[in-house]
Amino acid sequence: MAMHAHSPAGEKCMICGEIKLTGIHICNQLICDSCHNQIVKTDVGDWKYQYYMKKLSKLKLKSVDDIKEHKHSTK
Ligand SMILES: [Zn+2]
Repeated sequence: MAMHAHSPAGEKCMICGEIKLTGIHICNQLICDSCHNQIVKTDVGDWKYQYYMKKLSKLKLKSVDDIKEHKHSTK
């Protein structure tokens, strides 16, 4: 798809708020590689899980598992 023809170099990660070039897209929102890796590593009992869930609640995901199961589409 070429939906971002005029986009600048990178997109704003919805978790850390930094401009990143790579990451996964969920509901048209970017989650950068480092945040994605953090989420994957975070245990349900970890306080960070709640932190990420609050961020991710905008995406109306059922759980962080949706992120964990989301595979990178780029090589
Ligand atoms: Zn990030």
